[in-house]
Amino acid sequence: RKNSTKSQWIESNFRKTIPSRTVHAHKGSHGRGLIIGGCSEMPGSIAMSTKAALKTGAGLITAGTTEKVISMIAATCPEAMYMNLPEKDGYITSGPALTISNYHAIAIGIGLGRRKDTGDVVAELLNHAPCPLLIDADGIYHLKSHLSLLKQRSMPTIITPHPGEMAMLLGISISDLLSAPFHHTRKLAEAYGVFIILKGKHTIITSPKGRQAVEASGNPGLAKGGTGDVLTGIVLAMMMQEQELFDALCNACFIHGKSADIQVEEKHAYYDLMATDVIDGISNVYRTFP
Ligand code: AMP
Ligand code: MG
Repeated sequence: RKNSTKSQWIESNFRKTIPSRTVHAHKGSHGRGLIIGGCSEMPGSIAMSTKAALKTGAGLITAGTTEKVISMIAATCPEAMYMNLPEKDGYITSGPALTISNYHAIAIGIGLGRRKDTGDVVAELLNHAPCPLLIDADGIYHLKSHLSLLKQRSMPTIITPHPGEMAMLLGISISDLLSAPFHHTRKLAEAYGVFIILKGKHTIITSPKGRQAVEASGNPGLAKGGTGDVLTGIVLAMMMQEQELFDALCNACFIHGKSADIQVEEKHAYYDLMATDVIDGISNVYRTFP
């Protein structure tokens, strides 16, 4: 078999690798993260990512978005800090205001919109972000025009596509992708030096060196808007903790799916599970693993 490095990432892997929090911990020891995204039509996206990142254990999170979105979401996430970014017609545009040197990890893309000048912000981060960079959702759409920038990055880049986004990046159909998801994902990861979390019923995590793991938690309750935004926040928070990056990505997928599974066991059904319930459920995952 060719895929010899492919393995399952299960509860015992999570237990073994999840970093503990020492009694001397302070907010600075658990990472400063920046999440860039949101627009007038999708203000909740960045709110959910931000909340999920803090709930997962990030020390400090700044949400970078438009002034209007800040005023809409600040009350729902009072624990976060906010960065007011330049905007046009309700969408983030590139401008002088982007300070990116103070963070341990940056995420971009959720609720970002598809304006061309918004894509310039993605390119700017690919060129200059001096830390691990996570790209999701509309960020992946913009990445398609800037794929060549991936190769020259000295810090890791991580993308979190669902099959539609992954097929778009590869320029193939979703059915072709899903007929050989390990193969296609590894090819892209190796060619561009990027970590990939290919989402779905089973999630496939791939490193630029071709290591692959399958994370199988989660349930159909997750098939609803916003759950991907929650995953982005969880991944960002895990990226900032003291663990191998590959393990961090796998653990993030585990926390997300397991939260949904416990919620469905204890108080929800597939129908009524909301993305925000998945954020709340992160507490259950941690409480099960003291
Ligand atoms: P997105 O498509 O970006 O909103 O992300 C959806 C999230 O929900 C991903 O983490 C998927 O893995 C997860 N998800 C969606 N549908 C299912 C399903 N039927 N079973 C398990 N996980 C799912
Ligand atoms: Mg998504």
